[in-house]
This record gives sequence, structure tokens and C-alpha cells, in this order.
Amino acid sequence: MPILKGLTGSIGNTPLIRIDSLSEETGCEILGKAEFMNPGGSVKDRAALWMIEAAEASGALKKGGTVVEGTAGNTGIGLAHVCNSRGYKTIIYMPDNQSAEKVNLLKTLGAEVRVVPTVPYANEDNFQKQAGRFAATLDNAIWANQFDNTANALSHYESTGPEIWAQTDGKVDVFTCAVGTGGTLAGTSAFLKEQNPNMQIILADPMGSALFNWVSTGEATMTPGPSITEGIGNSRITENLKQAVIDSAVQVTDQEMVDMVYRLLREDGWFFGSSSGINLGAAVKAAKSLGPGHTIVTILCDDGGKYQSRLYNDEFLAQQGLTSPS
Ligand code: PMP
Repeated sequence: MPILKGLTGSIGNTPLIRIDSLSEETGCEILGKAEFMNPGGSVKDRAALWMIEAAEASGALKKGGTVVEGTAGNTGIGLAHVCNSRGYKTIIYMPDNQSAEKVNLLKTLGAEVRVVPTVPYANEDNFQKQAGRFAATLDNAIWANQFDNTANALSHYESTGPEIWAQTDGKVDVFTCAVGTGGTLAGTSAFLKEQNPNMQIILADPMGSALFNWVSTGEATMTPGPSITEGIGNSRITENLKQAVIDSAVQVTDQEMVDMVYRLLREDGWFFGSSSGINLGAAVKAAKSLGPGHTIVTILCDDGGKYQSRLYNDEFLAQQGLTSPS
């Protein structure tokens, strides 16, 4: 391992890990990109760094500037880390339906957190729109705008995709992951398809999202939900997602996700968050439909630490009609 240069030098170049239980069960190599090993603990560190570097390069963000974003979690965490390392201020708008742990974590990292009433995207007071409006009132400030700022997808086109290609020597049959902003799927799929147009790209969707229908029928109509997953699923096609090259979509239910994360905890020792569970569920479905001998790569977006009061809480699961495997 080379010596890495500081915080931003430690973002990316994550290991690609064979998931033993699932690989042995399916006869396929099921490999997960260990994004939980980024300094901010998630896949969103890459997008945070690329969005800030794009703003620096364009001159929109200068020394001592401010980064404003509407985010409920990992992007805010990634931005706060990168902003601290470069002397920028971070202001995060968050809806008031988020856990106190997330607000406290962002504050601990040094972000100013503005909790605003939870309203739909169409409402002008939606937290993302408030972030954009506030940034426009400040000098030397940007609205990161992760959903439609394509520096997000570019981070995966320039880093995640090439890393997967190099780590597998180009031997990948399927890449699958879920979509929040779409940055990960878009950038990674665009790069991998350029290397091998025959690679299958599968969008993994939780219930209660419109993306499975969008890929399958062309219409972004909602599927029945809800889902307890966080950070994934969407009802609109963002500028980032428009860059994705997708062959098909698969739905993974919350119970399949719960069974997956508990199985990996108990059998393999991994402690993953809900979106990793959806991604691994989709990887297993792909393995079963293709048969043994294939290599399937997915994303291990973050670990289970932020989800202890929900996903890793039997009482919460029971309230949602879900069961944790005993
Ligand atoms: N998993 C988690 C835990 C996330 O926070 C996010 C980002 N919202 C995603 C997956 C989806 O990543 P992307 O925004 O690149 O689609």
C-alpha cells in the first residue's frame, strides 16, 4: 500500500471484496466495492470531493468559501470532511424527519445544520430548494446540488469504474447497484460499458421507488412501498441518472434486504447498511438467473453503524412488519 496524501488522498481506491457466503452459494464470484472504507464512511465521499474540485476549478468556490447542500446523510458527511480539510464552511439543510444521530454527527464534524419542515420536492420550501436559494444569497459559496450536478457521476466515471475494471482485470459480467442521486450507477456504468459493451448493468431498486418501472417500461411511476432503506430510490430522473447505461432493473424487498444484512453479519462477519443489502440482494438475483461461473460486482455503500435504531432494532423492524432472522 502506498502512503496516501491526507484526507482527500484517502478517498477512493477502496478494496474489492469477495463475499464468501454468497459466492459459494451461487457459484458466481460476488464482489463488493468497499465504499464504507472511505474516510467519511460511504460512497458519497467521492461525489463530495469531485463536486468541490469542480467548483474550485470553475472559480465558483475560492479560499474561505462556503458549501451549502440539502442532504439527509452521507453526502453531508462527505462534504463536511472535505470542507474541513480545505478550510471551507459547510451548511447543511435537512428535513425534520431525520434521526437525531445524523444531525449530531454533522454538527460534530463542524457543519452548520438547518433542520427545516419536511415537505415534498414539488414544494418551494423543500430542503434541497432552500439550500439552493440560500447559497445564492452568499458570496463565495456554492450549492453542491448532488442530484443534478454531474461532477457527482464524473467521480464514479473517473474513479469507481476504472478501479473495478483494474481490480477484476476486466473480468466482470454484471455490475449492479441502487440509485439515490444516480451518480454511482451512472458514472460506473458509463465507464464499464465503454470497456465492454456486453457487460450487463442492472439497476437495483427498493420498493416504493419509481426507477424499476422507469427502466422496465419507460414511465417513472411509483411502485408500492414503503421501504425502510435510506439514501436510495427516487421518483425523478436526475441529470446524473440520465448518464447511466442500463440494461435492466430488479426490485429487492425490505425483507430480502433485512435477511441479507443479518446473514452477512452472522455468517460472514460484515456489518452493512440497508443499501448494501439491496445491492447484494440484486447481485444474488443476477447470479441465480445467469447460473454459476459469472462475476458480479456491486457497491458496499456504507456500514451498519448509522442504522442501529432502525435496521438493527427488532422492535422497529416488527413495527414495519419485518422480521430479523433469529
Ligand atoms: N447508499 C447510501 C447509504 C447512500 O447514502 C446513497 C446516496 N444517497 C446511495 C446508496 C446512492 O448513491 P447515489 O447517490 O450515487 O445514487
